[in-house]
Amino acid sequence: MDFDDTPDEAAYRAAVRTLLEEHAAELLHVAPGGEAVDARTHEAGLRRTQRVLAEAGLVGITWPREHGGQGGTLVQQAIVTQELARAGVPTLINHIGLGMCGPTVIAHGSDDQKRRYLARLLRADDVWCQLFSEPASGSDLAALRTTAVRDGDEWVVNGQKVWTTLAHVADLGILLTRTDPDRPKHAGLTMFVVDMHAPGVTVRPLRQMVGSAGFNEVFFDEVRIPDEERLGEPGEGWRVAITTLMNERVTIGGAGSDLGVPVERLAALARERLPHLDAERQVLARQAVGRAVVASLAARYTGYRRFTVLSQGGLPGPEASAGKLAGTAAAKLVADAGVRLLGDDAVYAATADGDATWQRSQGYLPGLAIAGGTDQVLRNILGERVLGLPPEPRSDKDAPFAGGRR
Ligand SMILES: Cc1cc2nc3c(=O)[nH]c(=O)nc-3n(C[C@H](O)[C@H](O)[C@H](O)COP(=O)(O)OP(=O)(O)OC[C@H]3O[C@@H](n4cnc5c(N)ncnc54)[C@H](O)[C@@H]3O)c2cc1C
Repeated sequence: MDFDDTPDEAAYRAAVRTLLEEHAAELLHVAPGGEAVDARTHEAGLRRTQRVLAEAGLVGITWPREHGGQGGTLVQQAIVTQELARAGVPTLINHIGLGMCGPTVIAHGSDDQKRRYLARLLRADDVWCQLFSEPASGSDLAALRTTAVRDGDEWVVNGQKVWTTLAHVADLGILLTRTDPDRPKHAGLTMFVVDMHAPGVTVRPLRQMVGSAGFNEVFFDEVRIPDEERLGEPGEGWRVAITTLMNERVTIGGAGSDLGVPVERLAALARERLPHLDAERQVLARQAVGRAVVASLAARYTGYRRFTVLSQGGLPGPEASAGKLAGTAAAKLVADAGVRLLGDDAVYAATADGDATWQRSQGYLPGLAIAGGTDQVLRNILGERVLGLPPEPRSDKDAPFAGGRR
């Protein structure tokens, strides 16, 4: 396998680099130590950055042209992602919209919904969130209890979602609800697009151990959604949700890029710090760096193989689950090794001028091992679909959802 750019890819990369240089002054850049600005200013900067990039043709690379995308390839998307990271541009604010909600609207939305939503999503005029998980249904998503009851041309929604990334800044969300409790749990669900500013929607941020509040509790109290905002047919919500979830695994684990700090940064840190450690710590740090580099490169190159399959028109399968599992484990090893190299300095880095990247990554990665499918659930998928092990018992699969719950 040849990892170098083809002449076409090299030309595309050069064009992307030129565009990023031309627009550098308008884009937000990640400050090395994590600069403290107020949340509203940061959000405005992120929205502006995505709009500038969208106008330059650098957002929605693989989306069809008819929906405002660039009609490009996955390789081109990977090149743009790499060049944005190289230029120090932070993750796009609408990453959930771009990776999950938009593709779901493209696959299941009406022409009217596509016209109203997709171009605005690409420019971050509307920021989107994904309202699936609930306090009693995460891994077992189909057991969710938020209800939508039809009332004429509207649906009335009551219930609670949790861990909703970006809900505190979102304008719109895709919302999975139960519309028929008398059918089996997967069959009684319906998906909607919900206006996050509608009366009855309450968002409460949840602070994470890294210090910021990136996800939220969201409460729905008699929220009215017009029927024209339904995504797919009533009772077809699970099928629609599967589109979102497949895109989520590919977005998180399928592209073969490092999930945490790139391992090259660890190597650079090791060259700088190892000579200053005493003999005993040096041995331990070397071992940690070695393990992290091996795991990281194995995950990255395996990712490239998946990526090749996708770029040749193959479909994402359980490989995306393996990618997320291995990528998260490798990223944890990289972060741990970085903290080990910094030693006591790591403790102070967040408060002084030091580089807080390493312990931020260490604090954030346990969440990534849960989001989009926990490690255990991904192992179940691999056990059943790749190794052919007997499936888990699913005694409630065909029973009416409401049985015993009312
Ligand atoms: C950073 C972050 C961002 C998130 N963003 C969003 C978002 O934007 N939108 C959204 O809807 N949700 C989001 N989530 C929620 C996420 O999808 C759920 O947390 C996840 O699916 C796990 O569900 P749970 O938290 O209810 O844990 P549970 O499902 O209750 O799991 C608890 C424990 O039991 C284990 N377990 C559960 N079932 C099995 C099984 N069958 N076999 C073996 N072990 C099992 C799990 O692995 C875990 O260790 C986010 C979560 C995180 C951490």
